[in-house]
Amino acid sequence: MCGIVGYIGTKAATSVLLKGLKCLEYRGYDSSGIALLNDSLFVCKKKGKIIELEKELNGLSKDLSTYTVGIAHTRWATHGEPSDLNAHPHVSSSGKIAVVHNGIIENFQILREKLALKGFKITTQTDSEIIAHLIEYYVDKYNDFLTGVFVALEKLEGTYGIVVVSRDYPDRIIAARNGSPLILGVGEGEIIIASDASAIVEYTRKVIYIDDREVVDIQRDSYQTYDLLQKQVEKPVEDIDWDIETIGKKGYDHFMLKEIFEQVESVKNTCRGRLLTETGTSRLDGLNLKPEDFSEIKRIILIACGTSWHSALIGEYLIEEYARIPVDVEYASEFRYKNPILTKSDLVIVISQSGETADTLAALREAKQKGVKVLGVTNIVGSTIARESDGGVYLHAGPEIGVASTKAFSSQVMVMIMIAIHFARRKDMSLESGQVLIEKIEKLPQLIQSMLDTAGDIKNIAEIYKNASNFLYLGRGVQFPVALEGALKLKEISYIHAEGYPAAEMKHGPIALIDENLPVVFIALKDSIYGKIVSNMQEVRARGGKIIAIATEGDNEISNYADHVIFVPDVDRMLSPILTVVPLQLLSYYIAVMRGCNVDQPRNLAKSVTVE
Ligand code: GLU
Repeated sequence: MCGIVGYIGTKAATSVLLKGLKCLEYRGYDSSGIALLNDSLFVCKKKGKIIELEKELNGLSKDLSTYTVGIAHTRWATHGEPSDLNAHPHVSSSGKIAVVHNGIIENFQILREKLALKGFKITTQTDSEIIAHLIEYYVDKYNDFLTGVFVALEKLEGTYGIVVVSRDYPDRIIAARNGSPLILGVGEGEIIIASDASAIVEYTRKVIYIDDREVVDIQRDSYQTYDLLQKQVEKPVEDIDWDIETIGKKGYDHFMLKEIFEQVESVKNTCRGRLLTETGTSRLDGLNLKPEDFSEIKRIILIACGTSWHSALIGEYLIEEYARIPVDVEYASEFRYKNPILTKSDLVIVISQSGETADTLAALREAKQKGVKVLGVTNIVGSTIARESDGGVYLHAGPEIGVASTKAFSSQVMVMIMIAIHFARRKDMSLESGQVLIEKIEKLPQLIQSMLDTAGDIKNIAEIYKNASNFLYLGRGVQFPVALEGALKLKEISYIHAEGYPAAEMKHGPIALIDENLPVVFIALKDSIYGKIVSNMQEVRARGGKIIAIATEGDNEISNYADHVIFVPDVDRMLSPILTVVPLQLLSYYIAVMRGCNVDQPRNLAKSVTVE
């Protein structure tokens, strides 16, 4: 998920690597580290910003300028808190192998146990450390660096971009990719490998894009790529013609747009290793709940702020529908001051992208103070909420830079789905129903792609309504929180006043707003209350309001009631919010861009709200 840089050449590797890491800073990270190689291996790792690592390196009496080979990393923790120790590179027990890793090794627990039995000393909490030991084990066994790496890779399940060096092979770097990007920059007598081209462009514009399940064996003036079957693969050398700023955004105009488009991958990462088809449930070991806890829980209280509060509302619908446990949703800022009534049979779940939201943290502390078990759902490993909760679920959505949340929201919804099925299977849901549901959930990430494909149509709609002063968003059931989220997104980044309501509430007040200048977004999927939504649409039309409908694919009737229609694949009603929210994110994005707003850093807003 985060940053990798490797260098082999004639320059002082330290400065190339540190510069490279700084180019990757925009991705967000919590610690960094470097390994330098000649006939010995020197490693330095620091929690916090790259400047901390630099300070540590500058304070050494050792002369680092002679090293011309090295690897470096910015870590965005997924397993184990951010700390000096858990930072990468990780070094094998004998100190021979150093490795940096982006991604998640799903079977790390089993490998960790096996390696411990073989006498390897596991010292960190990360999933990544085992890669160093595993490679050492096989390099020693086969007495060959490349073969050792190949065999070790066979044992890994999950995603990785890795770069490895060995003290016994001081003029080589080996890298491999499966799910986390790696790009090779080919210079004159030097090669730089990085997870992102922005770390490379200063040195060369000639690059090779390493693909999934490929390995590259690198020396100063040569390299060879292979597939995982050890067959040589010839790869084209391509020219990069982007500037650094564009590369950071991967060619997108804004981080927000990039993050909207990343949702297929980020939601996949949220589910990775957690959906169990055979047992029809989800694996959420971090909840730290014992089997008997499930029968004791009589009520779940979801607490959050802003966009996270909307995911909590969706969680309420999901948990009540599938697990049949009553759910209350609270604003953290209200909960903390209202002297909440809590009992031993309550379970509190707090949700915060950053894990540092001040109100949510205070609510967590208030609940704990009253002796209730609290779980945390956050995106940031080792964040205060993660540390102070009794258990929880990480989003694994990757760093989110755009201030208005998009991919973190869809990952929160996915976590809510997985929590709902986890509880449901401990209660009344049958094995078969669980299996059917898991199959449907597995298909969701791919279906997000079809929503992203509507971007062109949404841009056209944005063009028509970009000058509106007000917007109304209406939905019913589980789509009501989506309506709220659509309205919030528009407010946040385009500064247009927008309201979200349960569609039927319209006639109790907001209907007074409707005239020909008011665009109304309806989420009107084909379900048991479709007829009711259509009636609401007609009420809007009768008053001259303009309608943008988010409707189910194959619904031929809807265009009779709406001015514009965006279609959503026909999925289970309860799972659909993860799809219906995407066009609403895109609509707010395009309108904000057309109005000349600063999309990534909207006025007055902060990414992590650490004040009351
Ligand atoms: N899963 C690894 C860790 O937690 C790598 C995280 C990353 O991609 O930075 O250390």
